[in-house]
Amino acid sequence: MTYLNVQGVDNVVVNLAALFPGTSQLITLPHQTEEGRTSHAIRLGGGAVGSRNAVVLLGGVHAREWGSCEILLNFAIDLLRAYQANSGLTYGGMVFSAQQIRTMLDTLHIVVFPLANPDGRHHSQRPGGEYMWRKNRNPDYCVHHEDCSGVDINRNFDFLFDYRTAFDVDSEVMVTDDPCDHETYQGPHAFSEPETRNVQWLLDAHARTRWFVDVHSYGDTIMYSWGNDKNQTTTPTQNFRNAAWDGQRGLANDPTYGEYIAQADLTVGQNLAQAFCAAVLPVRNRAYTPKPSFDLYPTAGASDDYTFSRHFVYPGRQKVYSFTVEFGQQFVAPMAEMQNIIQDVSAGLIGLCLAAPATVPAEPGDKPAGDKPTGPPSGGPFHDPDTPASGTGSPIVTTPVAVDVAAKKK
Ligand SMILES: [Zn+2]
Repeated sequence: MTYLNVQGVDNVVVNLAALFPGTSQLITLPHQTEEGRTSHAIRLGGGAVGSRNAVVLLGGVHAREWGSCEILLNFAIDLLRAYQANSGLTYGGMVFSAQQIRTMLDTLHIVVFPLANPDGRHHSQRPGGEYMWRKNRNPDYCVHHEDCSGVDINRNFDFLFDYRTAFDVDSEVMVTDDPCDHETYQGPHAFSEPETRNVQWLLDAHARTRWFVDVHSYGDTIMYSWGNDKNQTTTPTQNFRNAAWDGQRGLANDPTYGEYIAQADLTVGQNLAQAFCAAVLPVRNRAYTPKPSFDLYPTAGASDDYTFSRHFVYPGRQKVYSFTVEFGQQFVAPMAEMQNIIQDVSAGLIGLCLAAPATVPAEPGDKPAGDKPTGPPSGGPFHDPDTPASGTGSPIVTTPVAVDVAAKKK
């Protein structure tokens, strides 16, 4: 097995949906990338959109974090195959029963968008490209230099986007409005990039999304809200919408500002992060650490804060418990280790999905957990993910090279 190229990732998504028509649905994202690529996602679980609560899983936001695509594709393949075979799933020492898998796919929609930034991945993988590329490939914003291009998709969401106003000048908020920055250029305005608008569209299209996980590397962590400042549960007026606190956000050790989160929501975030870690550990004894996003560094415009913030900003929107996974110990793991990581994170995601339904109230008409499936299972033989079934995109053979990445941003 090797890492998939961009076409290979897309082939797997399209072919999976074709092979499992009763239990999955292909989703075509509406916004083409700068280089003209159309992205696809896949929704696992039968029934119409809006008939169930949904989990949205996102990958491939940062170009060099290759394995997130492989994790999410293998996760989808494993679930669809196990459901069809009425079998459980075993990852090392972690065992999920057939009933648990059935319950997941009979009661949830699991929306898997494995490659949000295909142009960036292509640039990271192609000969002559930049292996440690992070952003997309939009060339529009630097007019002075030939070689400045790209926006950090994970800074382009609408959450405290105007960081110069929102944050303390002494905050080391990890974002910049300098289009020549190689790492964290935020773009000219929120949602300036098609990749970001695709994620927004996916959330809008699944109004019953209640949980969101953005899969990145690296760090062996899973992070819950918030990412702009330390959490506090006592002063609701200290929040990202309140301009009275502009210029005071993003400091770790000040006694002044903390981002408000209701204790009940903080508990849900902690518990689901813990459920993820508890399912990872038995696989091969990797200890993932749950922590608030802010503990990594302060951010603005990140996907997890945007997704959790939506229900405050737009009345009527569902509350979405949001997480960022940082898997592994390097951006691109050697494939032998990547296959272990795929097992770790797949188990963690299943653990999170199994614990998730209890964290929100049931809606009238929801199917009770544990119901027997209706109708015969669908699908057929599936090609291994490193063998694109249509043959139009061959996976690249890659020997990850040692790169000093200690100072890079995740
Ligand atoms: Zn990342």
